[in-house]
Amino acid sequence: MLENKDEVVVRMPSLRTTSHISPLIPIPDIVNIVSICLGERTSNSILPLLVVHFRDMLDLTHLLSTSTPVPVFDGHPTYSASPISCLPHDASNVHALSLGSHTGTHIDAPWHFIEGGKTIDQLDLRTLVGRALVLDVRGKKAHEKIVWEDIEKWEDVMHEGVIVLICTGWSRYWGKSNYGDHPYLDTSAAEKIVGKGVRVIGCDTMSPDEVGTDNPTHGVHRIVLGAGGVIAENLCNLEQVLELIEPVVSLLPLRLERCDGSPIRAVAWSSAQGPV
Ligand SMILES: [Zn+2]
Repeated sequence: MLENKDEVVVRMPSLRTTSHISPLIPIPDIVNIVSICLGERTSNSILPLLVVHFRDMLDLTHLLSTSTPVPVFDGHPTYSASPISCLPHDASNVHALSLGSHTGTHIDAPWHFIEGGKTIDQLDLRTLVGRALVLDVRGKKAHEKIVWEDIEKWEDVMHEGVIVLICTGWSRYWGKSNYGDHPYLDTSAAEKIVGKGVRVIGCDTMSPDEVGTDNPTHGVHRIVLGAGGVIAENLCNLEQVLELIEPVVSLLPLRLERCDGSPIRAVAWSSAQGPV
């Protein structure tokens, strides 16, 4: 296996014993995340192997660019990157970055809408890496509601630990004037998803709620975040995740103290064993 350059073999210690952790992964939390991805429980004496097929890794993250528009809500900061030190005149290249906690592909922590809710730095990272369930609702039109009847065919595979991704196909309009006209999730459908135990919902739109109305209710936000869950917004390439066998997604945020949201580098890969 080690001869294949497309594979990386990671040795995993027991969940309970962290004294023999491989120097490849020195952080116990990361070890636990990897174990959860596989759905495995290891014994103290066995170091099982995780084979990650990197040829399958998909980037679900929009590009943050200073030359093309980055869609943001009215009043939210957009993205900028200003060089403050430049080769060859200076010793190195360094940029000053400016962006909001909800700029680009990002996640919302419960505290975004819920008083007393968890902040980004308080999230359990293990909930943000896991098996993905992609709901294919690409037939929905601008400002059309996604109701439970559209997605109930997947209800048997919605459960605790599954990351539900809503694929509308709207990410193709990123940077265009109609990007905010996307379909949106009905609140009763959101209640049913959360009722199944799901606590992480992602979408390839600005929001799972309708955007651009005079009286936004943020109803889906309040339901998911109110249940202690997390929402990922402005994802892309969810159509390609539909093609993956047993997809796993990672939505890890920056470690920002007492913050309501954070940019993420969202990726997905197949957890299927064997040749791909
Ligand atoms: Zn947000």
